[in-house]
Amino acid sequence: NGTTQPRRADTDDKRKLIDSVDCFIFDCDGVIWRGDSVIDGVPETLDMLRAMGKRLVFVTNNSTKSRAGYLGKFTGLGLNVNAEEIYSSSYAAAAYLESIDFKKKVYVIGESGILEELDLKGIQHLGGPEDAEKVVALKKGEYMEHDEDVGAVVVGFDRHINYYKIQYATLCIRENPGCLFIATNMDAVTHLTDAQEWAGNGSMVGAIAGSTKREPITVGKPAEFMLDNIAKTFGLKRQQICMVGDRLDTDILFGKNGGLTTCLVLSGTSAAECLQYTLGTGQEASGCKRQQICMVADRLDTDI
Ligand code: PLP
Ligand code: CA
Repeated sequence: NGTTQPRRADTDDKRKLIDSVDCFIFDCDGVIWRGDSVIDGVPETLDMLRAMGKRLVFVTNNSTKSRAGYLGKFTGLGLNVNAEEIYSSSYAAAAYLESIDFKKKVYVIGESGILEELDLKGIQHLGGPEDAEKVVALKKGEYMEHDEDVGAVVVGFDRHINYYKIQYATLCIRENPGCLFIATNMDAVTHLTDAQEWAGNGSMVGAIAGSTKREPITVGKPAEFMLDNIAKTFGLKRQQICMVGDRLDTDILFGKNGGLTTCLVLSGTSAAECLQYTLGTGQEASGCKRQQICMVADRLDTDI
C-alpha cells in the first residue's frame, strides 16, 4: 500500500487487505483474463469478494471495445459483471470530452469501441475504421483537406493505422492550436497473442506526438480521471479502494497516484524480477550501479 514497502503477500496479509477495503478495482488483461482465457482462480475470487459485500470495478486500458463490448466479453467468459462496473479507456475518452462540455467534432485514430462510446455521449466523430483503407497518393501538388470543426484528436489502439490517418490527425492539431490531443492510454506493449509482446498504443500516440510536438492528455491508467469517476459513482473514499493490477507502470502507478492500496499480481506483464528491480536493488541488468557506467556516444538528442 501507499505507506509500507512492497512485499509478497502471505495468507494473513491477504485477509488484512480484504478487510481493510470496500472496493477492488481490477485491471483486466493479465489479471482477469489473458487474451481470451480466464485466469485460474478468478471466478472463485470474484464470487468470494461479492459474497463479502465488496464493490468490484473492472478497468482496462484496451480501447478497442466499448463498455458494452466488454460486457459481452465478460459474459462470454462466464463471468457475471454489471455494465456499470466496467471502465474502459474508450469510455474514459468520451467521458473526458463530456466533462469539459466539448461541442466540436473528434477525429479518431482507433477502433469501434471509441466510436460507440462517443455516440453514446452524442459527440460527433470522423476517422477510425472508415479511414482504414485510405491511402495518400503523394502525386505532385497533392494537398489534403481536413475538417476545421475538429476540436479534438483521440488516439487509441488501431490495427489499421496508416499514413492517411497520421497526416489527418497531424493537420487537425497543427493547423488548430486549440485542438485537443487525447490518448486513451500509453501502453508500450500489448499481448495480442501469447507468443510475444506487440507494439501498444504508445506507438500510435508517439506517431502523433512526434509529428505535432504536442504532449497528449492521457485519460486511461495511470491518469486519475477514471478514479474520480469511480469514487463518485460508488460513493467511496480512496482509502476504501484497492487497485489490483499486473503492470507497475500503469495499474500500480494509477493506484499510487490516487492514494489507493495497491496489489500487484504476477499473472501478467510485470514479472517478479521486474518487481525486484523496482523494489530498489539499484542494480541494472548488467549488475552495475548507474554511477559505475559511462555512456559513450555521438548524438546529443538520443544517447547523451
Ligand atoms: N491495449 C491493448 C490494445 C491491449 O490489447 C491490451 C491488453 O490486451 C491493453 C491495452 C492493456 O489492457 P489492460 O489495461 O486490461 O491490461
Ligand atoms: Ca493488465
